[in-house]
Amino acid sequence: MWKRVIDTFTMENNKLIETLGAWTTKHSNSGRWESYHSTKDNKVYRYGFSKDENRHYWEKYKRYGTQLSLESEIAIDEFKPADGIPIKINAFANGKLYGEMTTTMETDPLTDPVHFGPMVDWDMFVRAQPAWIHALLADVHFYTTDDGRPDFFELIHEHDQHGHLISVSDGSVIFHDMSFGWVIATPDGKRLVGSKGPCNGRGNSLRAEGAGLLSVTMFLAIMAQYLEIEQINMVCISDNAELIRRCTAHKQYDDPFPNETLRSEYDITEQIYRTQKAYNIQSNFQWVKGHQDNNKTKAELPLEAQLNIEADELAGEFQTSEGMFRPIVHLLPSCPAMLAIRGISVTSNYRKQLIRAYVEPEYIQYLQYRFEWSNDTIGIIAWKSLSLAIQRIQRNVLITKVCNDLLPTAATLYKQRYQEHDTCVLCQREETREHLVRCPADSRLRWRRHMLQAIRKRLDHLETEFAITETICTALAEWLEYGTVDVEKYPQRFHKAIKSQTVVGWRHFFGGKISRDWLLLQEDSNTITKQEKRASYSWGASIVEVTLLQVIELWELRNDEVHGKTIEQQEQTRKTKLTVEIKRLNEMREYARPSDVCLFIEEEEDYLEKSTARTMATFISSHRRAIIDSVKKWAKTSQTGATTILRWLGNSNTAETIEKIHTRQRQSLLSDGRKKERRRRRKQQQHGRQTSIAGYYTLHKSLN
Ligand SMILES: [Zn+2]
Repeated sequence: MWKRVIDTFTMENNKLIETLGAWTTKHSNSGRWESYHSTKDNKVYRYGFSKDENRHYWEKYKRYGTQLSLESEIAIDEFKPADGIPIKINAFANGKLYGEMTTTMETDPLTDPVHFGPMVDWDMFVRAQPAWIHALLADVHFYTTDDGRPDFFELIHEHDQHGHLISVSDGSVIFHDMSFGWVIATPDGKRLVGSKGPCNGRGNSLRAEGAGLLSVTMFLAIMAQYLEIEQINMVCISDNAELIRRCTAHKQYDDPFPNETLRSEYDITEQIYRTQKAYNIQSNFQWVKGHQDNNKTKAELPLEAQLNIEADELAGEFQTSEGMFRPIVHLLPSCPAMLAIRGISVTSNYRKQLIRAYVEPEYIQYLQYRFEWSNDTIGIIAWKSLSLAIQRIQRNVLITKVCNDLLPTAATLYKQRYQEHDTCVLCQREETREHLVRCPADSRLRWRRHMLQAIRKRLDHLETEFAITETICTALAEWLEYGTVDVEKYPQRFHKAIKSQTVVGWRHFFGGKISRDWLLLQEDSNTITKQEKRASYSWGASIVEVTLLQVIELWELRNDEVHGKTIEQQEQTRKTKLTVEIKRLNEMREYARPSDVCLFIEEEEDYLEKSTARTMATFISSHRRAIIDSVKKWAKTSQTGATTILRWLGNSNTAETIEKIHTRQRQSLLSDGRKKERRRRRKQQQHGRQTSIAGYYTLHKSLN
């Protein structure tokens, strides 16, 4: 379907039938987009408006690839939107601004290197190759000639004499800067050719190593073609086990498996295979342990290890002289499609990278909105330390809440109507997230001391300069105590870090957002350490890790306190309610049948003090009915008072009769629940002899 739709406006080679024109000046309703990439001076302009001064202006940015850095602010009429192409600017977790430039790719025809005429000069020849080959072979040095000029005949002579040659390639990765180096030698150790060069893409050791092997392969391919050699036998050595494993495995099959095409750095490994196959380069891939010169001199090592060191040195040389991040990879014939996100080629982890590319700007925007952080503030925060610390703490759910300021404190629960108050159980003030760490209650005071101790201990363990540790801990303590940090109290060199942490917010320190200026302090400190000094981001991660762990501990402490308190409170309210009921029931004592005196509590005060809500509730549920019944019946039998009548009617109320009544009452209490029997007995009681007589007399008396 899509193909058919696309076919309606494209030609055979996916080119538009009608090429797009230039940007018109009326490309937006307001006649202006937020930001432009100027075609005249290659700068990026971002529109700005100052409400206070009612002034429109342009922010002028210098470009470093897609990365932007603010140069100056210029008047609104100094840049015409018609001179630029609209672009989108994003802020990223590393705090830098990126422009979404239209990604430009090398548009070399995707052909394998076949076309070349009579070889006049190696450099010219290499320059004539497609850009990707040119990049791989830009710096080849022949050791067999005095001036390093190409000498293929010497090379092939050695090859034929020994039956094969050895190549050792290596890669170097410093963050995203990648380079490779390789050496070709004879089996008896004569060095023939060496080369070094760049590797494009995001930093990845497999990619850099692969680029080295691909470079050797392309070199041999061109030689094979030029000299019309039918077969070249090689032993290809690398210290990257994955590369060796893949290349060896690929010998068993021709077409790549679909899943394989999604593996990291597929383009390079596939191109190695294809080129070697096309030019009949018979390779035996071998792994060698890298950097074996750490505890032995080079001369003592086997040839492969020696060559590995030389290749490594070549790669290192290139890093020092020309090392830089080259974000866009060259399209190789093996892989004619490549994912690029914001001007950076993605050659591995596609799923994760796509998710990140979508989620990260949204997340940062959310944070900016929620905490009113400017782009600069986002840039101040040590994100790398935070993400490393989160990886170290395996408490995903709680960490998400802590770091995004989502802990359900009383204030939040009250706002969301989950509970009816917003107060801290310890001090009755509003329990916000800031209050959690700053609450003046004793248990929190202890926690704060404990937390500062933990941070201090970890910093000591990392052999941090005393003054840095002291400043961090004192400033934290000050903020916890007073809610502000007075920068003047601290030495001058700490002012920047304290100020920037204030901009981010000290309370966010407890959400793992620490200022990068702390890391810079650590970097600049030249305290002598016993262990190797850690990278500053990892040092920062330790602070974040300890802090977050302490906050988790605090939250657990707080929950115990809140829930403990709640249970106590519930018990108290319940007891108060039950006390009222028990007092009411006990007051019925004088109206109840005298023989039922056992139903009532003797020492009321004592009982109420000692009982729990539960025993009180049990008492009420087991006695209430009996008491009420007793009172009712007694009221019926003697509205004026039982004792007098009983005495008066002494002859009918013999001990025997009273005993009978007791038995009946006991049974009625015991059989409570068996309704039928009770009903029957009630009837009997109503028509019982004693009742009627007593009733008669009382009635009679009241009539008098
Ligand atoms: Zn409190």
